[in-house]
Amino acid sequence: MSGRDRFPAFPFLTICFPPSSLFWYDLMDTTPTFVTHLECGLKGDHYPADTVQGLSKAGKPLLVRYDLEALGRSVRREQLAERPPGLWRYREFLPVRKAENIVSLGEVETPLVELPKLQPGRGTLWVKDEGRLPTGSFKARGLCLAVSMARELGIRRVAMPTNGNAGAALAAYATRAGIESYVFCPEDTPEINVREIAAQGAKVWRVNGLIHECGKIVAGGKEAMGWFDLSTLKEPYRIEGKKTMGLELADQLGWDVPDVILYPTGGGTGLIGMWKAFQELQAIGWLGEKLPRMVAVQAAGCAPIVRAYEEGTEHAELWTDAHTVASGIRVPVAIGDFLILRAVRESGGFATAVEDEAILKARNEVAQQEGLLLCPEGAATYAAYRQELETGRISPDESAVLFNCAIGLKYPLPPVDRTLDCHRPIDYEALKS
Ligand SMILES: *Cc1c(COP(=O)(O)O)cnc(C)c1O
Repeated sequence: MSGRDRFPAFPFLTICFPPSSLFWYDLMDTTPTFVTHLECGLKGDHYPADTVQGLSKAGKPLLVRYDLEALGRSVRREQLAERPPGLWRYREFLPVRKAENIVSLGEVETPLVELPKLQPGRGTLWVKDEGRLPTGSFKARGLCLAVSMARELGIRRVAMPTNGNAGAALAAYATRAGIESYVFCPEDTPEINVREIAAQGAKVWRVNGLIHECGKIVAGGKEAMGWFDLSTLKEPYRIEGKKTMGLELADQLGWDVPDVILYPTGGGTGLIGMWKAFQELQAIGWLGEKLPRMVAVQAAGCAPIVRAYEEGTEHAELWTDAHTVASGIRVPVAIGDFLILRAVRESGGFATAVEDEAILKARNEVAQQEGLLLCPEGAATYAAYRQELETGRISPDESAVLFNCAIGLKYPLPPVDRTLDCHRPIDYEALKS
């Protein structure tokens, strides 16, 4: 059924039952959806929605397209404000047709936390703290949508390669949905990630290679295992979940955007998704002319997008010998490279790399000065912010949003080795040193 066929029931129900939080989830059953088709991100050819799709014929990511005109007519910003906050507030912008297929673990609205002490000029500096989401990372947004759509399309078994957080989110949402999941991690994936994946019901393996090599195992097992490949950007819906970061951010800022967004970029789903969100919001008139400059932040030890940006190419080359403490952005080759580069360039932004040393220093600085513990990937965006104030590519008077994509507690922290003997007198004066 198309969005328009369903549309008539909606205003009527809205009048009868004002969408208080209690009624609202029931009402979603009749909320119209506006997906028209899927489109190859590179070639632009169309594919039918409501069928199982992976990559396009050109082997590129598929993007979900909506009837934006009908969407814009169906809902007003004030109506959204009456709904409970969180990802499903933006239901009309999402592809799930039937509310019964929504798989949810409580996707909260993540806070915009100001960093007043570290703010260098008149522009506000915020962290959007995505570590508050289920499974402690923003991968929850993508997998919430991907797994909901897998359920809607009748998929029973899924697989993915992961550096940790995506696998954890997949495990949680797939288990919740009653879908079987298989996860493959590079062997040096943080221990906590591998364990949480297993604890949440997925079958997980450590693989003696990097993430793209794990990806080959997933691709190679399709026939024998009959699983659906949920690798980053190899199915159309994770982007739609990550898109909600852009919708939510604009909503939190009163349907406005910051001057600059710094995003730790691995596969790039979030950067691509947010840029898509801003364009959809602009198309329906909820945002004006101004869009943020999108800055892709990578680690110096794995910076294929930065290299491609600097060389002016449309695609990125495989990065050999990838290494960084920020494991979430250790992605040597990204299938959506051209979409990342396009968003960065169209927005007037840029791509930049930071050293591991700067990442750890940044994590320390934000935690010690502002009391906010970032993950290394999130810390990379603060390191990049400082670096680019120096180069002048970001002005201290611009407003900037840094993305902290995961809870800092999932990562190893510097050890503490100070001890006290409670059976001896305590030298309190010495505690101050
Ligand atoms: C996955 C991940 C990233 C990279 O996100 P993409 O949208 O795939 O580029 C960054 N940080 C953390 C903590 C992650 O888990």
